[in-house]
Amino acid sequence: MMQPSDASAQEDAPGQGLGSASPSHTELSRQTARLNALWRQATRHDLGDAERSRAILREAALALGMDLAVLGEFNEHYRVRTAHDPLDILPEGTLLSPREAVCQAVHLARAPLFIGELSAHSDFSGHPLVREHGMHTYAGIPVWTGEEVEAVLAFMRRAPTPECFDDADIAFMELVAGWLGHHLYQARQKIQLERHALTDALTGLLNRRAAELRLQEEMARARRHNEGFAVALVDIDHFKRVNDRYGHAVGDQVLQVVARRLESGLREDDWLARWGGEEFLIFLRGADQQESVYVMQRLIGHVKAQPIHTEAGNISVTLSAGIGLPAREDADCQAAVELADACLYQAKSGGRDRVEIRDGNTEYWPAQIIKRALRDDRLRLASQVIVDLESGQAVADEALARVVLPDGRVIAAGEFIEAAEGLGLMPEIDRYITRQTMARCTSKLGNGVVGPDFAHFVNLSPQFLARRDLVEEMLQNAQNYCDACGVSMGPVKPIVFEITERQFLTNLDSLEADLKPLLDFGFRLALDDFGSGYSSFLYLARLPISFLKIEGWMVANLRKERKIAAIVESLAGFARREGILTVAECIEDAETARILREMGVNLGQGWHFGRPELEENQN
Ligand code: GH3
Ligand code: MG
Ligand code: MG
Repeated sequence: MMQPSDASAQEDAPGQGLGSASPSHTELSRQTARLNALWRQATRHDLGDAERSRAILREAALALGMDLAVLGEFNEHYRVRTAHDPLDILPEGTLLSPREAVCQAVHLARAPLFIGELSAHSDFSGHPLVREHGMHTYAGIPVWTGEEVEAVLAFMRRAPTPECFDDADIAFMELVAGWLGHHLYQARQKIQLERHALTDALTGLLNRRAAELRLQEEMARARRHNEGFAVALVDIDHFKRVNDRYGHAVGDQVLQVVARRLESGLREDDWLARWGGEEFLIFLRGADQQESVYVMQRLIGHVKAQPIHTEAGNISVTLSAGIGLPAREDADCQAAVELADACLYQAKSGGRDRVEIRDGNTEYWPAQIIKRALRDDRLRLASQVIVDLESGQAVADEALARVVLPDGRVIAAGEFIEAAEGLGLMPEIDRYITRQTMARCTSKLGNGVVGPDFAHFVNLSPQFLARRDLVEEMLQNAQNYCDACGVSMGPVKPIVFEITERQFLTNLDSLEADLKPLLDFGFRLALDDFGSGYSSFLYLARLPISFLKIEGWMVANLRKERKIAAIVESLAGFARREGILTVAECIEDAETARILREMGVNLGQGWHFGRPELEENQN
């Protein structure tokens, strides 16, 4: 194809105005009319970006009496991006090598080019546009997008234009080019922003949002092709130590290297995303149980095989991975991710540096039980009676959390509480149980089933207590229930909160501060699990405890071990002198109940008196 000898040359220099410096009145109104028409197209909000550009091109071509208007982009190729092309000469999407495009001259020179008679032009007379399509006139204007000229606006006409274009025409074309450049620039920015919004800045991987979108696509695809898949969540072990020891910047370097190593070890169809802080998601397309375990073991082996070189020296890391497979004929990505998460939790608690796997058809795991129960609103309240050992009367009960599985089975708190603590779900559980307990308390009092002295014990986690918003909400609820109940009561309220030292290794001062609003309201405290190793004498000494709950293990071994009996007896004595009521847990027979009563223990609970019972009609 022919090249122009001098790209910036304007062979037919634009006519300096068709005649005079002051255009006639009709000429002015013609120019105003075409500008107005263009303006109308450029400001049409009913059109998408591409349609609007097309409308602008069409309007401009009509106003200039042109047969063809093309916005073409230069990359590796010349590509027709938008066209008004009624003759179907250069349809949108046409790809040419840049040399084949007349517009290349404009692109290289970054300056307009006007040719009144193409067939007389040494460079273009043989061009297919001239020879095959009979084009005579060409006008090309560079389209600036920011600092760059990546596109050219071209007009062509099948009739020659001996006088060429006047200043008003050229200004008009430049205006159109400016407009299109602006749209192009915006469109590019938008694409870049979108790419940004889906990419994790640190690792360059897909971010969580992108991964979620992609999982949706994968799910649809898996269903269409009836194909299996697995989802793995991978988490760096003890990554906090890396940050703590070497600083955040080194932590970032480690994250980047781990991302690269995972990426380089992926199978062809699989993909990787940064799911959270130091957690990655890997989608294993078409993988079954055996294959996904193999792939993941190889991947985490690949990451830990070599230490990571950082500015702070070599750092070795291990990874834990959980793999979730969808249930048969389900292809639910969300469920697979949840399974993977539960497996990851299991991999961590099983010692880290390992892979765990489950599919949707297998039994539940603690982490999964509680997560799903909260999601599907299947947490329930059970209560167990507490009796006065002296009179044998029921004087209180304890609220216990239960999960009802979809198949109706009931799971006890002991099976999921530890997982809930690990997953930070305790506040949610406590929030539900306290609310249910208050509602139940109000209804029992209001119906005269129990008197105002009947106490309701509720377990409260330190995580809940530390959430000021939840505590405030609970106090507000409590006030509402009190108002609604209508039974007049002294400053002491029927709810007793049980606290233990489990998990709570921070200072007592903040615990005291967290508890104060509850005590001010009239709630009382019970120290739970005393004797289990979780509750210390320090708590007993510092906190205003009303009840001391003697742990089940001591109660169960009381008759076998003399020393335990002696400890329980002295505890009961100490509590009595301090005005604290003692509650023995796990009493399973009448003899143990009798011994405890004789030791001076006040209250008791356990199967001997009644098992926990699920409350009906919970909401
Ligand atoms: P585990 O083995 O149980 O996973 O322990 P861990 O210490 O890795 O887990 P934990 O979730 O307690 O801590 C994760 C740490 O990762 C805490 C957080 O500050 C750090 N982290 C998260 N995102 C980034 C990041 O972008 N850069 C750096 N340097 N650290 C991050
Ligand atoms: Mg970690
Ligand atoms: Mg983590």
